[in-house]
Amino acid sequence: MAAGSDDAQEAVVFGTGSGARRSGSRDGGSASGGGQGGELEGRQPYDYYLVFDVEATCEAERNSKYPHEIIEFPVVVMTGEGEILESPRFHTYLKPTTNPILSEFCTELTGITQDQVDAGMGFEEMLHALDAWLDDNEFFTAAKPTVFACDGPWDVRDFVAGECKRKRVEFPWYMRSWVDIRHTYHRHYRNGARRLNGMLEAIGMEFEGREPSGMDDAINIARLASAIIRDGGSLAVNRVVDRRRALDDDQVSRVLFYSYDFATISDFAADELIAAHPAHAPRLQAFRVARAAAAKATHLAKTRKQQARRNAKRKRGKHKKHG
Ligand code: AMP
Ligand code: MG
Repeated sequence: MAAGSDDAQEAVVFGTGSGARRSGSRDGGSASGGGQGGELEGRQPYDYYLVFDVEATCEAERNSKYPHEIIEFPVVVMTGEGEILESPRFHTYLKPTTNPILSEFCTELTGITQDQVDAGMGFEEMLHALDAWLDDNEFFTAAKPTVFACDGPWDVRDFVAGECKRKRVEFPWYMRSWVDIRHTYHRHYRNGARRLNGMLEAIGMEFEGREPSGMDDAINIARLASAIIRDGGSLAVNRVVDRRRALDDDQVSRVLFYSYDFATISDFAADELIAAHPAHAPRLQAFRVARAAAAKATHLAKTRKQQARRNAKRKRGKHKKHG
């Protein structure tokens, strides 16, 4: 979580806290189960949450220009009911190329050794392996609505997207929109807790394992997510990167249909999608409602800000006249 600051993100499209609410048991196991009348009652927006946490090369002196390279990439699967699965899991170490020798600080911080990264994959190779793993397990398909999730904006926005940009590797389409669990947590509990262990402790849990470590962090983030579900929260998409770039048709159907990322398409296209996939209409409709609410909230906030600016300007003008 070291790279970048939290406030530069492109964010927050779908309402967290509105939309899906857990109310007792799920209303059906299949992807097309859905609630009635556009509601997501009794279930999370996704059936599978791929919770991940990267470790990256680093130095003791923090420097926002430092080209972090991912050296560990673990993914833990949590179901929409909050169950953390032992398998399947994805886990690999990676060999950095810009700074191939790990600093002592980095090994101490992450517990990752030079031998582990020397035997690791390249970054692009890892993304291919991840693709294959997603396909093998049928994630991001109609049968398994899936979304990635992690703690804060950094892992996707800075580590994955940053390395893709520097190494001219295509950014993975399935990470365009994701669930920032820290953001959801703060909306839900409003307790001001900081860091992963602090967030766990504030709700009566303890970090299990070594912190920070990719796999242990991922498991503990999944535990946090599971607690949010248990406590009635909704794990909806709340972050989007790379919104301006157009997706190709295949990506559109997989991201928009299987991940329900409505942030990027027009209402007309959303209508088309809903008409083409009636079995998924309730979920898709619910996302539309959440999106409309989020857009309205953004618009209201913007209007208020503009009004406040105008008022301040008027006030300054008055002072000048009198002074
Ligand atoms: P975390 O999200 O805490 O697992 O950290 C992810 C990555 O951020 C680490 O692998 C480091 O590359 C970097 N990082 C975390 N904490 C620090 C720190 N105190 N100083 C420098 N880099 C850090
Ligand atoms: Mg970590």
